[in-house]
Amino acid sequence: MLKTKQTRCVTPASSGTLLTLLETLPDAIFFIDDAATTVYANASAQTITGATREDLCGKPLWRGAPHLVSTSLYQAVQKTKQTRAPIEVEYVSPVTRTWLHVQLSPAVGGLLLHVHEQREPLPRWETFVPDEHLADDVLKNLYVGVGCLTPEGILLEINEVPLADAQIRREEVIGQPFAQTPWWSFYPASQQQLRAAITRASRGETVRFETLVHPREGMDLHLEATITPHEEVDHHVEYLVYVGTDITERKRAEGATYALMDALPHRVWIARSDGSVTYHNQRLIDYLVMPLDQIQGDGWMVGVHPDDRPQVQEAWQAAIQTRGPYEVEHRLRDGISGAYRWFLARGVPQRNAQGTILHWFGTCTDIEDQKRIEEALHQSQERASALMNSNIIGINVIEGEQIVDANDTFLRMTGYTREDLRAGRINWRHMTPPEYLARTQQAHQELATQQSMTPYEKEYVCQDGSRLPVLVGGGVFQHHPLQAITFVLDNSARKELEQRKDDLINMASHELGTPLTAVKMQTQLVRKRLEKQSHHEAATALSRVEGPIKLLERLIGELLDVSRIQAGRLEYVRERVDLGSLLRDVTDTMHHFHPSHTIVVRETVQTSLIGDRDRLGQAFTNLLSNAITYSPDAETVEIDLSASEDAVTVRVRDHGLGILQEQRDKIFERFYRAPDLSQRAIPGLGMGLYIVAEIVKGHEGNITVDSEIGKGSTFTVTLPKRRDA
Ligand code: ADP
Repeated sequence: MLKTKQTRCVTPASSGTLLTLLETLPDAIFFIDDAATTVYANASAQTITGATREDLCGKPLWRGAPHLVSTSLYQAVQKTKQTRAPIEVEYVSPVTRTWLHVQLSPAVGGLLLHVHEQREPLPRWETFVPDEHLADDVLKNLYVGVGCLTPEGILLEINEVPLADAQIRREEVIGQPFAQTPWWSFYPASQQQLRAAITRASRGETVRFETLVHPREGMDLHLEATITPHEEVDHHVEYLVYVGTDITERKRAEGATYALMDALPHRVWIARSDGSVTYHNQRLIDYLVMPLDQIQGDGWMVGVHPDDRPQVQEAWQAAIQTRGPYEVEHRLRDGISGAYRWFLARGVPQRNAQGTILHWFGTCTDIEDQKRIEEALHQSQERASALMNSNIIGINVIEGEQIVDANDTFLRMTGYTREDLRAGRINWRHMTPPEYLARTQQAHQELATQQSMTPYEKEYVCQDGSRLPVLVGGGVFQHHPLQAITFVLDNSARKELEQRKDDLINMASHELGTPLTAVKMQTQLVRKRLEKQSHHEAATALSRVEGPIKLLERLIGELLDVSRIQAGRLEYVRERVDLGSLLRDVTDTMHHFHPSHTIVVRETVQTSLIGDRDRLGQAFTNLLSNAITYSPDAETVEIDLSASEDAVTVRVRDHGLGILQEQRDKIFERFYRAPDLSQRAIPGLGMGLYIVAEIVKGHEGNITVDSEIGKGSTFTVTLPKRRDA
């Protein structure tokens, strides 16, 4: 250009001439030094900017001539300084709305700016014409306030919205440090935030922060501010883009949300996307009892049980990295009692439309009671499974006739496999031998009516067909009335022992019987001989042996009977028995041996029945003998005989020791003797009543006992008169 060439021709010596020349030029000329301070501005420059030379000179260009300031000009200045080559730039003045054409030429110690103005102003709506990059940067955000800053924070551009908010003109703020403009200078904290953000952004970092600004008297705005550095290819930060979004409404809504959250019975927290917790609701604060400033960030971690901290940290980090939900169970200290309770902490990220995480919303739910129940349940399950896996008791669960579950012990006992169980091949009815079916059904009946079965002995037919003696008991499940659990004890060892005992009794009674008979016969023979030879003294002495021999004979006879009963070999003759005469005979014999007691017989009727005279005699002898034996201090024993149309009743009553209630069933068992001290002195083997009961049963009758301690006992035998079989 001609004018530029002219400038170059001027020598320093003739600078006066040059200045005069510059003053006459119609275009504006600025000379700025390396710090962009205006050193010189010609007359046209003053006209264009509407400022005096004093306004312009000695101040940064950006401040003195806000009409001219634009990001394009700023970029061009920077570029010329860098490249030392002339540049031209054309843009619309944001103030006068006219096209400006600026030529920038490097000069010694600074730059020469030659500004040419085109007079036609543009329409107002094109006020903000961001360059291509700026448009990109800005469009990434939904903006309200948009501006452009130098890396040092000098405001180069600003759009209408913030200007309108502050009710100021553009030129009042352009070229000023942004932090000192009305929006930011009111609250020192916001100003501080902005300064820090500019410093970080000028190093290439995008900075986002929330703050409160004060554009004018009576107006506060919550802003979400973003400062994005615009970088050159060489990563040199050229300028900064500022976007401020008004979030006042959101904040207000948040305020209401916080108030709501504080009122919630739940424990709630909110964290920033980086994981630092910014909010705890009142309920949570009340629980932790920690000052707010301590609780924020990751201060809440102090409340977590030290043992749980690593896993909480791990879960939280993982959630932040994967951006997935956060869930962990941990103990949290109750600030009041100092005790820890279990909580379930959950957090979900809240994202914006682009998927960027804005916040994490979280809750802490008290699961202490749940944990305790779980623990108790776990323990009881453990106990139940220990019981179930017991290797002594076979356990099975039945539903109908089917065994639907069983422990290993039961399977081992019966020879079935788990596969059999799964396939439904185990059925208790099939496992029950015919002779035990009635008893088993009775047990199941009991189960249905009383929810439990009295333990009873039976046998199982095992998988291989062998028999297993067992003791079975059980009960129904409260929660599953169709199912029942049964406990099965292998009874074979006991049964075997019993068998051996029976064998021994059987053998002993036979083995003892033979020599005793020999002794008895020999004694009688010798006694008779002695009498014949008139050795009366010796004969009497020998006859004393006959009493104990009789006793022995009776004992061995009872032993034999017991073993016959066991083997089911006790047989009965069927004959007509006159009960009255039978009782008189028995009484006479008894009286002969026990003259100490008077036996009173009350016979109201003459009655007879079909039965075994000897066995019935044996039964009544036993009853009478007991009545006398167990009433050492009484004098009488009574026998009543009465009859109805179908049955005969015999009552044997004594006035002796009596029998305890709990012993009344047991006395009919084999070898049972009451353990009372008072009876220890009375000899006996506990076979008498067992045999009596068996004989009565053999006659299809029944026997009961009534007794009062210290007063006496009454045994009542009822026998049917007519028997079909
Ligand atoms: P034993 O008399 O040989 O002991 P039993 O079978 O006849 O055997 O009787 C069993 C138990 O019943 C006795 O040990 C005794 O404790 C009790 N008992 C039987 N009869 C009477 C009775 N009349 N009075 C008190 N106790 C009796």
